[in-house]
Amino acid sequence: MTIKNNLKRIKAELPPHVELVAVSKTKPKEDLLEAYGAGQRIFGENKVQEMTRKWEALPKDIEWHMIGHLQRNKVKYMAPFVALVHGVDSLKLLKEINKQAQKHQRVISCLLQVHIAEEDTKFGFDEAELAALADDPEFKALQHVNVKGLMGMATFTDNMDQVRREFRGLKQLFDALAPKFGGLETLSMGMSGDYAVAIAEGSTMVRIGSSIFGARN
Ligand SMILES: *Cc1c(COP(=O)(O)O)cnc(C)c1O
Repeated sequence: MTIKNNLKRIKAELPPHVELVAVSKTKPKEDLLEAYGAGQRIFGENKVQEMTRKWEALPKDIEWHMIGHLQRNKVKYMAPFVALVHGVDSLKLLKEINKQAQKHQRVISCLLQVHIAEEDTKFGFDEAELAALADDPEFKALQHVNVKGLMGMATFTDNMDQVRREFRGLKQLFDALAPKFGGLETLSMGMSGDYAVAIAEGSTMVRIGSSIFGARN
């Protein structure tokens, strides 16, 4: 019941235009089913193998989001079913997703990850790289990927002023880049510790794990 109650409480806090990705990485199928029973249909995983195992075992109306750093050689395993890839951080990766999507006659929705945090461990494009990508003929030629928006992770810190600044910067970038990409609709920012700030700064999609499913080991 805890998962159900957590979900209910969090959903009540989200404005109607903000989508909830329930981040279920490392959690057993039973936990996902409890969330599913409470009406949750979008789940986020950060490992392709784990996501694929869960996809095979769980109801087929679940939308699977890949939120982790993605290796190109793993794209083929999730290409038949993945609904949204959040962490796309290179043209090379986009090209591989495009190639695998084509094999399944699909168009795979993607978010470009932007590096907004102080730490250099977080992957992603910077502003100049995104602007260049939008104009790149190789990018424009890709028919089987649909770049729907941006994704970012704030610095891991208790300093909420800094987190707010980083999210605000990402939202500004989102608005500035949208016309170059022919419109962007999804801004994925906010996790358990910072989703309220992210929503206040313009997030349209939050990725929440531990506040729903409890701490991970
Ligand atoms: C694990 C993870 C989350 C969820 O983190 P919580 O703090 O448990 O809510 C969100 N986004 C990404 C990219 C993650 O890897």
